[in-house]
Amino acid sequence: MASSAVPAEEVAEGFREVYGTAPDGVWAAPGRVNLIGEYTDFNEGFVLPFALPHTAVAAVARRDDGVLRLHSADTALPVTELRVDRLAPPADGSWAGYPAGVVWALRAAGHTAVTGADLHLRSTVPTGAGLSSSAALEVVTALALNDLFDLGLPAPELARLGQRAENDFVGVPCGVMDQTASACCVAGHALHLDCRDLTLRQVPFDPAAHGLALLVVDTRVKHALGDGAYAERRAGCEQAARMLRVSHLRDVAHEDLPDALDRLAAAARRSGADDDRLCRYVRHVVSDDHRVRRVVELLDAGEVGAIGPVLTEGHRSLRDDLCISCPELDLVVSSALAAGALGARMTGGGFGGSAVVLVAADRAEEVTRTVRDAFARAGHPAPRIFPGVPSDGARRVR
Ligand code: ADP
Ligand code: MG
Repeated sequence: MASSAVPAEEVAEGFREVYGTAPDGVWAAPGRVNLIGEYTDFNEGFVLPFALPHTAVAAVARRDDGVLRLHSADTALPVTELRVDRLAPPADGSWAGYPAGVVWALRAAGHTAVTGADLHLRSTVPTGAGLSSSAALEVVTALALNDLFDLGLPAPELARLGQRAENDFVGVPCGVMDQTASACCVAGHALHLDCRDLTLRQVPFDPAAHGLALLVVDTRVKHALGDGAYAERRAGCEQAARMLRVSHLRDVAHEDLPDALDRLAAAARRSGADDDRLCRYVRHVVSDDHRVRRVVELLDAGEVGAIGPVLTEGHRSLRDDLCISCPELDLVVSSALAAGALGARMTGGGFGGSAVVLVAADRAEEVTRTVRDAFARAGHPAPRIFPGVPSDGARRVR
């Protein structure tokens, strides 16, 4: 990644080369990392993501003839040409399914004024690294069409339409966190999102102003083990909620956790379920919801460095209770802490992807070097490490 954002003018120029005319405008939407609150979204709990400086940038022109043309400078593929009135899931697996899915979701929601577009994309969000390049692509498309067709939809609604595109058109089951972060984040803040009622609040988070840095470490690995794991954890949480007679694990209060675990273990044994596994899942979800609350309190109090140990505690919970870490993620955390980081945890779905490391700014270089050396010694591919500066959500840039 040479730079974290592509200049709008370059993307507009790319549009001219592909389509032979000028775009109506250029929009940008960022990738995100989640600071804390993992596997809590589908339990109707809390998450705390922030937007990265890395963005998907799209130059777009409105069309009124039913034609949708899509091009990404980041693939070698030619322009995809579709008809908006013939869009239907399932998508064919190509990248164009994401923006096409957004057009489909908008029209399915009654916004039939969306009658076509030409789109040219360039993105600096690493793909498949758990940093939500897919949400960036959906949100930039939704925002551009919202502006070009005067739909007047608020940012959280654009996020929900992006999620709908990913769930129902592309066919990927994801919560609404990624798209909401990409659409709604504000620079210098993390986004406290309640996944039950989707209320959100901007929480001050500006590590640099406190002499700190938040490093993002993309391990560049993705283990096949992760393929069925999300669905398995999700099913386990839903089963545990039923056994505890709550609608979602969000409804188990942190102070009631010991009692809830006793009741769950007894109920699981009665029904022949694996009580150890279900108890671990519940302990992770309830304690991670609590950790989100603690981090938000600390950030509100300006005690940014003090969130470090809470992040590390979150990693242990994901590693030992949810069992979704992997050797590379564990190595980021252990080597960063050994080099003096204040806290570190894996972020995202697990089994690879990225980790976040909180470190004093004057130790960031040493921590970076130590993590790189540890990877080299272990024979892992070199990780990609960059500062995760909390940045703005989606916006028009030209
Ligand atoms: P993540 O969202 O964690 O990066 P996903 O698998 O959800 O990983 O999304 C990655 C997919 O999004 C890519 O395989 C591709 O289809 C699409 N995508 C993301 N960025 C681009 C891009 N710049 N050009 C084309 N497709 C992209
Ligand atoms: Mg994604």
